Amino acid sequence: MAKFRKIGILTSGGDAPGMNVCVKAVVNKAESLGIDVIGVVGGYAGLIKGDLIDLTHKSVANVISQSGTMLYSSRCPEFATEEGMQRAVETCQKNNIDAMVCIGGDGTFRGATDLTFHGIPSIGLPGTIDNDITATDYTIGLDTSINTTVRMIDNLRDTCESHERLVVVEVMGRDCGQIALYSAIASGAVAVVVPEVPFDEAAAIQKIKDLREAGKRGMIVVVSEGVFNPDGTPYSETLTQRIKEQTGVEAKFYRPAHTVRGGVPTMKDRTIAAEMATKAVDLLVEGKSNRVMCQIDGKVVDMDIAFALIADRMYKNKLKDGDLDKFTPEQIEEMKALKAKREEEILNLYKVASEIGF
Ligand code: ADP
Repeated sequence: MAKFRKIGILTSGGDAPGMNVCVKAVVNKAESLGIDVIGVVGGYAGLIKGDLIDLTHKSVANVISQSGTMLYSSRCPEFATEEGMQRAVETCQKNNIDAMVCIGGDGTFRGATDLTFHGIPSIGLPGTIDNDITATDYTIGLDTSINTTVRMIDNLRDTCESHERLVVVEVMGRDCGQIALYSAIASGAVAVVVPEVPFDEAAAIQKIKDLREAGKRGMIVVVSEGVFNPDGTPYSETLTQRIKEQTGVEAKFYRPAHTVRGGVPTMKDRTIAAEMATKAVDLLVEGKSNRVMCQIDGKVVDMDIAFALIADRMYKNKLKDGDLDKFTPEQIEEMKALKAKREEEILNLYKVASEIGF
């Protein structure tokens, strides 16, 4: 069993509701084991600069209901360089940081794996509203951001109904359509557009015309931010224009953007964050590292980061030559099964959205 003097913790990449719960849970769990915790301010950039704060249960009191991240976040390309990494490792050595917990998305996990191979055992926690990490069914922040998105759409629905209007809402999620699909289902959108499924624009336009003819007043269309026109401009705005021109229905465009990153974290995000974070400390104490916490079929489990990152590339069709070389045929089959599971999830959600959206 490893005896750590200090565990460091950082949040990196895009912030997500529930990150503060992770911080609090790591601090409280470590303290209960007699291990100190040090917070790294501003993600990997803070590790390079040595921007650190001591964390105790007092410093994390009253943070669980706040979104954002009390440790702040950043994008830090320097961390991916050997020089940046050396400086980060020096910071750990100088400050007796024996292990790290790194909260973020796949970029953050790449950083955590590099740290592990430079002698600082690290564990990743999946914190991103996009739910775009293939290894895990769920990423901390998704539930809160969908609920915030749906509340905003509900507000739009009220006024759409009064004024016989349609609103195209562009939602977050990058290349992953989950936020769009859940939001569309939960708000009864008449159409939804996601990066993973081909969209039949003509059929959607006809549906909108038919629904208006049948007396439907207010309508919502949800488009994922990850859908683009061939020239790289957002498809959501183009679709709004085409609906206006081709249906005669008054159509407006709305982009909630980063407002859905805020808000009070939901019970789901708080409980999963707490469970993943406490288990991350357990793993480090057991001497394990280079793992990412995942939720699979309702259970919190840990997975090898290298496996998780390559499974992610496989799902996103971004495999590079040699990526699969160090994995066994069984592991490759497991990755394929994960890819199939994610594809099926999206198609199921899409089917539900299409069947109830009118
Ligand atoms: P996310 O973690 O949400 O995917 P990013 O992709 O921006 O967000 O990654 C967060 C940070 O992780 C980056 O700013 C960088 O410091 C670090 N990082 C990303 N890729 C690598 C890499 N290949 N090696 C080491 N660190 C990386």
